[in-house]
This record gives sequence, structure tokens and C-alpha cells, in this order.
Amino acid sequence: MSKRDYYEVLGVSRNATKDEIKKAYRKLSKKYHPDVNKEPDAAEKFKEIKEAYEVLIDDQKRAHYDQFGHTDPNQNFGGFGSNVDFDFGGFGGFEDIFNSFFGGSRRRNPNAPRAGADLQYTMRLTFEEAVFGKETEIEIPREETCGTCHGSGAKPGTRKETCAHCHGTGQITVEQATPFGRIVNSRTCHYCGGTGQFIKEKCATCRGTGRVKKRKKIHVKIPAGVDDGQQLRLAGQGEPGINGGPPGDLYIVFHVEPHEFFERDGDDIYCEMPITFTQAALGGEIEVPTLYGKVKLKIPAGTQTGTKFRLKGKGVPNVRGYGQGDQHIRVRVVTPTKLTERQKQLLREFEQISQGHQHEDSFFSKVKRAFKGE
Ligand SMILES: [Zn+2]
Ligand SMILES: [Zn+2]
Repeated sequence: MSKRDYYEVLGVSRNATKDEIKKAYRKLSKKYHPDVNKEPDAAEKFKEIKEAYEVLIDDQKRAHYDQFGHTDPNQNFGGFGSNVDFDFGGFGGFEDIFNSFFGGSRRRNPNAPRAGADLQYTMRLTFEEAVFGKETEIEIPREETCGTCHGSGAKPGTRKETCAHCHGTGQITVEQATPFGRIVNSRTCHYCGGTGQFIKEKCATCRGTGRVKKRKKIHVKIPAGVDDGQQLRLAGQGEPGINGGPPGDLYIVFHVEPHEFFERDGDDIYCEMPITFTQAALGGEIEVPTLYGKVKLKIPAGTQTGTKFRLKGKGVPNVRGYGQGDQHIRVRVVTPTKLTERQKQLLREFEQISQGHQHEDSFFSKVKRAFKGE
């Protein structure tokens, strides 16, 4: 059976305004609503009208229809995301149709395309892996469209059927007598969960859900410079969409292990280097480990504990490609603890010579004066 043209269904011209479409729909839905019209094909007609209206009232769907016509037999306008999640809500009671037009509530349409769920995966990285990046393969459990029934949930060779309880509308009308008169409410049909369809023979693979859990291997390229707590978004690698909606995303959250020697702050690396007190006093050259191998660093004579040096460009490459951090080195002068007699002798001599050489305004002279009360 070929589908009728949507404009023809609603009896409007191809350049009809939204108001004209709404008016036509109100008139026709009133006439064919299954609760009012008891002709055998009323439910089918009503569905046809509803479908035509939902497409023509939505700018994106209408543009798609104008361009492609009925190319998609299910009218799953996948890829339009939340725009398609639009429904006029309870087509239950006769009065309800009109309430829903004028400030009526929007209800979630169970047949509307919905985006798949986002997934999260925690990945542990060593300090170096985070700095330099790596390529790896991960395995994530996620839901996928069932290959046996292609997501319909119906046993191959069978089809979903129109729900007999709600005539395919997904809504059931409940009438209540109250002191104020008769109140008509519409509820989601619980026989079909509001989908308007039910599966008579379920697919054995997915038991009617249309989805199966699978472990999926994904190749991941971790960029150089990622940091602890940062996440990488892999678009479209989450769970598949529902009713032709777009898939969700996969987020990989990094947990970076600390390094025994280096500390990291953003793109900069920090470390502490011990130097001997003779190196500090006389100056010299020391070897400093960096992420890129050993580097020689000149220590000027008279270096104090806490003096900072910087190795430009020896930090972490910026994850967004904005240059490279530095390595900062803080030196610590180590006081020797085990001295030989000869060493002690030399140091005593050193101390004696130093007495006369103390500069008048040196720190040590100030301390001396303080004790004498000068
Ligand atoms: Zn299946
Ligand atoms: Zn139903």
C-alpha cells in the first residue's frame, strides 16, 4: 500500500502556513478520532492524519519531506535529535485534543527518536603515558542494536502489530464522573507502553528489547599532555539511539599515576635536586633528569637552598597544542652528616679563616650584634 501525500491527507496546499495546517488537523482529527468515529478504518485514518500533521508542523521534518517524500517507510527522521521529540500529547478524549492545542501539556512520545545513553570509562595512565600520549584499544560493554531483528524486537518474519487497546494511539481515555460533571482524562496505554504497537512474537536473541549487550573494542588515541581528571569525548561511541535517534557519546576519564621524582602542575614539571655544600659554595655543573633524558645544569657559586632554576621547554606538551611547559628545579643544599677526621680538620680551618672575612653587614654579623645588645 503506497502512502498518501501528507498535504493531501490534511487537504492543504504545499505552501500552507502553520495556522492552516493546525486548522486542517483540528478539523480532521475531530472527525476521525477513534473514540468518536466508529467506522472500521477510523483508527487508521486518524493515525495517518496524526503522522501527516507531525511532519508538516515541524519545519525540519517538513523540509525533509518536501525534498525526499516518503523515502523512509518508518518516518524515522533520525539525526534530528531532540527536535523530533515533539508531540501534542494526549490524544485521548475528544475534548483533550483541543485542550492540548491551547496550552496543553507536552508529553513524551515513546515513538520519538531519542539519543542513546552516554558512557563513561576510567583509564589509568602512567605519568609518562599522560605526558607523551599513546594509542591503545579498550573494551567496553555497551548495548547495540540486535542483529537478529535489526532493533524491532519482533521475531524475524513477524511484525509489530497495532495495539488493540489504544488503537495505535498509545493513549487510553478514562472517564470520571465528578460533582462538576464528566471529566475525561487520557493516560499512556500500559498494554503497549504508549508506543501504539505491540510485539506478538518476540525476537529470541534480544527478548523483544531490540538491543543486546556486547563488549565492543574501540581504538583510542590519547593525545600528549592529558592530565589527571581530564576526559576525552568520543562522539557517537556511546549506546545506540532509540527509534532512530543519534547514538550517545563515550567519555574516557583519565586517572594519572604520580611520579616518584616529578610533580606536575598544568604543563609545568617541578622537581627538587640535592647539591653538596661545596657545589653550592664553589659552583659547578649537575645532571638533572627530565622527561626527555638527562640535562646538564650550571650552578653558580654561592647558590643557596631554595634557589630555582628553569629548563625551558622541558615540561609537558600542551594537550591543545599551545606550546610546551617548562621544568622548574629547586635546589637543596645538603649538609654532610658523616665526616672523616680530615674533613673535620679542614672545616675547622675554613671556619677560622672565615672569622676575619665576615663582611660587616652580613647576616652573621647582624646576629652577633643582636647577642651583644649593640
Ligand atoms: Zn532482536
Ligand atoms: Zn496500546
